[in-house]
Amino acid sequence: AEALAAAASGRPAATADGLAVGVHVNLGSAAEAAAAVTAGAEGCGLLRTELLFLERATAPTRDEQASEYRAIGTALGNRPLTIRLLDIGGDKPAPYLAIAAEENPALGLRGVRVVLAREDVLETQVAAILDAADGAPCRIMVPMVASVAELDAVRVVVDRLRGSRPILLGAMIETPAAAIGADLIARRADFLSIGSNDLTQYTLAMDRGNPAVAAGLDGLHPAVLRLVAATCEGAARHGVPVGVCGGLAADPLAVPILVGLGVTSLSVPAGRIAATRAGVAAVGVTQAHVHALQALACESAGEVRTLARRFAEETV
Ligand code: PEP
Ligand code: MG
Repeated sequence: AEALAAAASGRPAATADGLAVGVHVNLGSAAEAAAAVTAGAEGCGLLRTELLFLERATAPTRDEQASEYRAIGTALGNRPLTIRLLDIGGDKPAPYLAIAAEENPALGLRGVRVVLAREDVLETQVAAILDAADGAPCRIMVPMVASVAELDAVRVVVDRLRGSRPILLGAMIETPAAAIGADLIARRADFLSIGSNDLTQYTLAMDRGNPAVAAGLDGLHPAVLRLVAATCEGAARHGVPVGVCGGLAADPLAVPILVGLGVTSLSVPAGRIAATRAGVAAVGVTQAHVHALQALACESAGEVRTLARRFAEETV
């Protein structure tokens, strides 16, 4: 009831003992933004811009992109809008990008690698985001970062185009390299956001699109949680906030563990906003931290889930 009242009043989500943990929405377009705000979303933590780029013969123009970003910003009532740079390639092809077929698309040209290979596409998208950011709090998020140099290369383009206009630039943590090196990336990023879907895929070496291994793809695997912990520690060293925007953020059993590891915001599908706010409000930070340490010591995702179910029963 308290969580619902807080959502209705527009108050930020917080733990039982008052630590603010932002709850944001994942969007692909403007369609779900208004409903998410009504449910208590504090902003958009992940706009998957590739939906704008797929199924067309040419890339969307700067004006087309800017008006879409503006429409979403308006639907969010000028709450923060995190716009992810085009995350395309391999399994999500766009013919005009002319990426050759690859034997291992998940390990090939995708995310920031495509963006840096096609500087024209990057420049147009950054210019569109800067257009939309005039009057709305937009942030730029870079997908599939594995090295500091990739973030630096994007920042060079952003700095050249923005002039004196400020804009936040963050990195997604979705490769083991980025999680292990999170302290290095955090030195150069304004925020980090863990893409748990890809981080799980690359940590467990299991293709997220392959049904034969789908049952094994669990973001509560202790190895994935150790990488989440490493990310939080690396980011904390530089005072940089860490969100989670993959499916793990919307898993009720994961919420106390993520909060306990030091995650500062969660971004979830529109339909999960209310439940996620309630999940945050149900835990205290100290008990969540103790619980998270126990999860890190588990031997399997199954063991973590059993532990998390027991924790949920004890906290209601
Ligand atoms: C992720 O990998 O967790 C993520 C949020 O990005 P996407 O699912 O779009 O790859
Ligand atoms: Mg991803």
